[in-house]
Amino acid sequence: VIVQRPRDNGLKFKGFDLGVSARWLQEQRKKSLARARVGLNPREAALIERIKRLKKESGTHSPSAWTLAQRIPELRLKVDACFLSNPYATQLFLMHFHREVVRPRKLRALLELYPSQNRVIAAKLGRVLELNPESIFVGNGAAEIIQAILHRFTHEKILVNLPTFSPYYEFTRPDTQAVYNVLRKEDNFCFNPDAYLDLVRRERPDTVVLINPNNPDGGYIPYVVMRGLLEELRSVKNVIVDESFIHFACEGNGYLYRSLADQVGRLPNLTVVKSMSKDFGVAGIRAGYAVMAPDRVRTLLDNGFLWNSSGLAEYFFDLYSRPDFQAQYERERIRFIRNSRRFFAALAKIDGLHIYPTHANFALAELSGGLSADELVCRLLIRRGIYTRTCDDKKGLEAGKFVRIAARNRPENAYIIRSLRRMIG
Ligand SMILES: *Cc1c(COP(=O)(O)O)cnc(C)c1O
Repeated sequence: VIVQRPRDNGLKFKGFDLGVSARWLQEQRKKSLARARVGLNPREAALIERIKRLKKESGTHSPSAWTLAQRIPELRLKVDACFLSNPYATQLFLMHFHREVVRPRKLRALLELYPSQNRVIAAKLGRVLELNPESIFVGNGAAEIIQAILHRFTHEKILVNLPTFSPYYEFTRPDTQAVYNVLRKEDNFCFNPDAYLDLVRRERPDTVVLINPNNPDGGYIPYVVMRGLLEELRSVKNVIVDESFIHFACEGNGYLYRSLADQVGRLPNLTVVKSMSKDFGVAGIRAGYAVMAPDRVRTLLDNGFLWNSSGLAEYFFDLYSRPDFQAQYERERIRFIRNSRRFFAALAKIDGLHIYPTHANFALAELSGGLSADELVCRLLIRRGIYTRTCDDKKGLEAGKFVRIAARNRPENAYIIRSLRRMIG
C-alpha cells in the first residue's frame, strides 16, 4: 500500500458542502457502481482523460505512482504494480535506515555532506562484488549509466531486442542508428541466438544490448547461452548486458543466479549494467553501477561524475556491502520469488488473459477479451486503485493488447487477482 487517503465522508464535493446525508450519497454510489459495471460514468471518463494526459507527458515511461497521486488525488492508489520492485527488500532497507540513520539522528549528515567520490564508492563495491574496483562505475541510477555509455562509446549503430527498455534506443546520440531484433509473441518472446548472430553479421552494429531477463516480457537467456554468445560477439565493439532483473532469475536449484560481471576482466568489450532500483526496491535513491574495462571507467570519470551518487545511495551501498544485510536480503529475495511464481500461476488461470513465461518479477499479459489494454489499465486504476502499465507505447508489441503487471506482496497480489477476475474473468 503506497498511498492512503482518509475515506471521504461523502458530505463534501470538491470542498463544497452539499448538505446531503451520507446515506443518500451511499445509495448514489451503489447506483453508480451498478452503472459502472456496464460502462464508464462521466466522472470516470473525465478521470481517464486526466490519466492519459499525464501518461502522455511521461513519454515512453509511466508517471510514477507518486506523481499520479499528487496530480490526480481523486485516485485512491492502493497497489503499485507498475513499478517493478521487491517490496520486501524495501521494507528491509527501511528497517535498517530507521535504526541506523533516523533514530541515531544521522540523517542530517547524509543530506548536508557530499557523498564520497565515485572511485571511493566503487572501491567499497569492488570488495563485496569481488571485482576489480577500477572496473566499476557508479551511477545515479542505471539510467544515467546507459546514457553515459551510449553517448561515449556508441557511434554508428546499436542493435536492441524488441520489445525493450526504451532508453537503449532513446538515449543514443542523434547520429546513431538503431536496428532491432524483434522477439515474436508466437515464440513466447524467446531469444534465438543463431538468428541473432546472423543479424549481427548482416548489420555490423558497433553496440549490441541484451537485457537479461528482458523488460517488459521477462524472457531469460540461460547463463551458458550467454557465455557462448559473448564469445561470438568478441568482434563487436560494445556488448552491453543489462542485469537489472538478474536477482529474480534463478537457474537450477537453490534460487541461485549468475552474473556475467566477472567476465569483464576477460572481455574488454563487455559492459554489465546493474540497477539497484528493482531488486532492492529503492528507485527513489537512484543507485546503480556498471562493470566495464578500467580504461572505459577512466574515460567516463574524466568527463565528470565526481559526486553523481547521493548520501542515501552511499548509505545503501554500505549496507549492501555488509554480510548481515546480504543474508537478510537473500531471505527476502527468495520469499519474493516464491510468492511471485504463485502470483503468475494464478494470473495464468484467468480467462481472457494470456501470460507469457517470465523469469522476472513481472509478467507480460495479453488480453483476448473485449477490453483493450488501455481500458483495463484505466479501470483497474480508477475502480480498484491498482496501477499497471499498458504496453501500447512499446515498440514491437501490438497496441491495445498488452499489459505489464508486477508482482507485489501476498495480500496485494491476491487483491490484483480478485480485481482482474472481476473485471475480465
Ligand atoms: C528500470 C531499468 C533500468 C534503470 O533503472 P534505474 O532506476 O535508473 O537504476 C535499467 N535497465 C532496465 C532493464 C530497467 O528496467
